[in-house]
Amino acid sequence: MARLEWLGHAAWRIELDGKVILIDPFLSQNPAASVKPEEIDRADIIFVSHEHFDHVGDAFEIAKRLGATVVGMYELTVKASEAGVEKTLGANIGGFFDVEGIKAALTPAHHSGNPCGIIIRGEEATIYHAGDTGLFGDMKLIGQLYKPDIALLPIGSLFTMSPTEAAVAASLIKPKVAIPMHYNTFDAIKQDPNEFARLVRRKAKGVKVVVLNPGEAYEYQRKKR
Ligand code: ZN
Repeated sequence: MARLEWLGHAAWRIELDGKVILIDPFLSQNPAASVKPEEIDRADIIFVSHEHFDHVGDAFEIAKRLGATVVGMYELTVKASEAGVEKTLGANIGGFFDVEGIKAALTPAHHSGNPCGIIIRGEEATIYHAGDTGLFGDMKLIGQLYKPDIALLPIGSLFTMSPTEAAVAASLIKPKVAIPMHYNTFDAIKQDPNEFARLVRRKAKGVKVVVLNPGEAYEYQRKKR
């Protein structure tokens, strides 16, 4: 069973195949964070989707303290090394690579700050964290190629998709489950996640929306074949 805990904003703590994976751990400066960085007591891999402060967040400090591998676009991992992170894996948009026994791939994302989306594949689930992005048609390819069980989609508008675009994204990606993120952290990205759920019901039939509050987790059990 995979466990996905929303830590607020685009930050996640994911347990997959016995590994603890953090994504975009923006915690100490995050008004919506459900944990303090010092409360994180294990991390094997830390993915960072791009260079903006609300995504790099506390990644380098946590990696140094816990010995986690920082994974992201090559230039970002150079910055991690310069900040004293011992284990880094610089990648780029391409195909699968292995990190700590988990398969991962970086996908395009339309945003600034040298962005990417992240595919994480274990035995228990395939997860797509879209990073910060606007809507783009190749999300359909991402869906066809990686068949994510779970898609984590930003809905805050202003910097990323709003519920309207994110519902179309869900229809292109066709995950089993879509979970909204990157909203209600600040007033500027105030959105109603139930509006996203309503639009997905209309535009992306068969996709289940799970709405979490920061600190809540969703447990995904893959159906037996
Ligand atoms: Zn950003």
